[in-house]
Amino acid sequence: METAHDIEALTSGAMASIWSWVETKIPAGVEVFDAHAHIGVDIDGRTMTADGMRDRMEAAGVKKSIVFPLNDPNARDDYSGPNDVVWSAYEEHPSSFVPFFRLNPHLGYDKEFGRCVERGFMGLKLHPVSQKFELDDPKVVRLFGMAAEIDLPVLIHAGFAMQRIVEPLLPTVEAHPGLRLILGHSAMVEVLSAARAFEGHPNVLFETSVVQLKDLYELCSSIDPSRICYGSDIPYGDLPSTLHAILAAAEAAGVPDGALPGILSENIRRWFP
Ligand SMILES: [Zn+2]
Repeated sequence: METAHDIEALTSGAMASIWSWVETKIPAGVEVFDAHAHIGVDIDGRTMTADGMRDRMEAAGVKKSIVFPLNDPNARDDYSGPNDVVWSAYEEHPSSFVPFFRLNPHLGYDKEFGRCVERGFMGLKLHPVSQKFELDDPKVVRLFGMAAEIDLPVLIHAGFAMQRIVEPLLPTVEAHPGLRLILGHSAMVEVLSAARAFEGHPNVLFETSVVQLKDLYELCSSIDPSRICYGSDIPYGDLPSTLHAILAAAEAAGVPDGALPGILSENIRRWFP
């Protein structure tokens, strides 16, 4: 259960001084944009409601969040049920949420892809570990091509439990240089090779949620800050500690304060004007 108390605990008591450092680090006037959050229910028992998400955003001063389903136990084969939950959240709070839909590439996805695009979803989320696929599976490569064709941004889980990221993904990025791609969790298991491989592909962004501090530091040290976007991965991460992590890593890596508005907001916001 999400309560106001949870949010308070992350910004007071032992966390108070950390949170006030975060607040002073966020440049004045920056409307923080969270590029990775979930609404719905997961097979592991995690849940997040639209209202719980909004409460957290308000408490942490976050203005907008990209939201998409979890690994939902009630997902019909095509994910349409969980996608509808995200759409309802967006309809209720259109200024707070940027809705992405989720698909299972192993199943016939054309109908749900078409339905969600028609409806107005603004991006697609794919999770290679939860849905058990490789990034160079022909069904997935075809899906990337479909997204590229209609200029639909794609966020892929590129974090915990991933084995191969750069090598299977690079041919797709090279074939579709216009494809707007968000690497969820910054390709943390291959962060340095990903930074090198995708350096010349400005439509690939590195999203920072729940990445170990050493990997965030390496990311901030090895790629232009205009390629980094902040994320929380709510309900697995929380806004105060993920904001602290990216701001601390950026400072340690010597990222100039002038680049922080980009990391916290503008680098991803420009995709969703
Ligand atoms: Zn996530």
